[in-house]
Amino acid sequence: MIPTNISKTLFTDIANQFGTPVYVYHAEKIKEQYQKLLSAFEGTNTRFFYACKALTNINVLKYIKEIGCNIDCSSVNEVQLAVTAGFAPQNILYTSNNIDFSEIETAQALGVNINIDSISNLKKFGQKFGHSYPVGIRLRPNIMAGGNLKISTGHKDSKFGIPLEQIDKVLEVVKETNLRITALHIHTGSEIKDVEIFAKGIEVLFDIAQYFPDLEIIDLGGGFKVAYKPGDEVTDIEKLGKKVGEELALFEKKQGRKIGFWFEPGKFLVSEAGYFITKVNVVKDASTTVFAGVDSGLNHFIRPMFYGAYHVIENISNPNGPIKRYNVVGNICETDTFAEDRELNEVREGDLLLFYNAGAYGFEMASNYNSRYKPAEVLIRDGKAQLIRKRDVFEDLLRNQVGI
Ligand code: PLP
Repeated sequence: MIPTNISKTLFTDIANQFGTPVYVYHAEKIKEQYQKLLSAFEGTNTRFFYACKALTNINVLKYIKEIGCNIDCSSVNEVQLAVTAGFAPQNILYTSNNIDFSEIETAQALGVNINIDSISNLKKFGQKFGHSYPVGIRLRPNIMAGGNLKISTGHKDSKFGIPLEQIDKVLEVVKETNLRITALHIHTGSEIKDVEIFAKGIEVLFDIAQYFPDLEIIDLGGGFKVAYKPGDEVTDIEKLGKKVGEELALFEKKQGRKIGFWFEPGKFLVSEAGYFITKVNVVKDASTTVFAGVDSGLNHFIRPMFYGAYHVIENISNPNGPIKRYNVVGNICETDTFAEDRELNEVREGDLLLFYNAGAYGFEMASNYNSRYKPAEVLIRDGKAQLIRKRDVFEDLLRNQVGI
């Protein structure tokens, strides 16, 4: 079982008090993860921007700010949330992807850092702001990386970033519009185990750094792999920190100028800090398998169905029950299997099943599909559990609908 500092009694109390399904986040675990990064990269000129697409509850964002971490946003609304959470503009990064230029204008007006990922938007930015506003470029380095194709974003067929082979066009635009390029950005994927992938990214960006005299930052995006089950291989951040330190020194020696690194970790900061508790509605002994049907589904926690993600599940209501095998499934009108042929302590109707690693891309991807309510969210801090989002109610389903 994956270790957790939260007692199973507290999880049960939370389920009883706030109902199920419910997301639960552990603040101190987020801090522990951030401190691991600070320690691994100590002495290197590196800043971390939490990729808030993973989890944007405003209380979590405020906590992230409180522990001193910066924030990375993937939409202008996330930028607004970051501002609302109290982040200063210089600590906010907006890494856009296929967006309307008006979003970039809004971000510029707010004074945040911006990475642009298309030639057309780069040109518009240059025409409007010229040298007056520093900007970063998101490139596609043509590197295959990441846990699976859906979360692989830097390969040669990827929609993300400006293809590296178009660097001449980029330089033309920069020259024509007198742009001040201060950052080069790549994000090759999520769940990158191999430090060599990051090293390859550094190599690619260092190769072209010479063309950007105003360059201050190499931004390698996010993608640090965390453990989903005991024994899982994870990104060796100590090794990466060391590599970054060496590369920075080499760069300074070769090019006679200093730069810094930025990273945008999402999962690394919040995945293991999050849990999802569901209640078993029905145990169905079908002819080929026994289904444990819970009060949730792909509408609340889509990662297993969307990415084939593996999440540890524990029956916290019957920890000493005999081990049996189940297909853990949802209540949605598609086949929404959370886990197949999974060993669990005997599951009875009404039992609570606890899902691990649910902090990143869990609630954030939830919907009202099948007209079901989005789950509640609870934050545990200093041992105390507090509601940070109410479960939807019926009125929420009709909130923006217009009667004609
Ligand atoms: N940065 C960018 C540009 C991303 O697209 C993503 C994920 O989609 C991240 C950072 C965060 O990735 P992860 O959660 O794997 O760290």
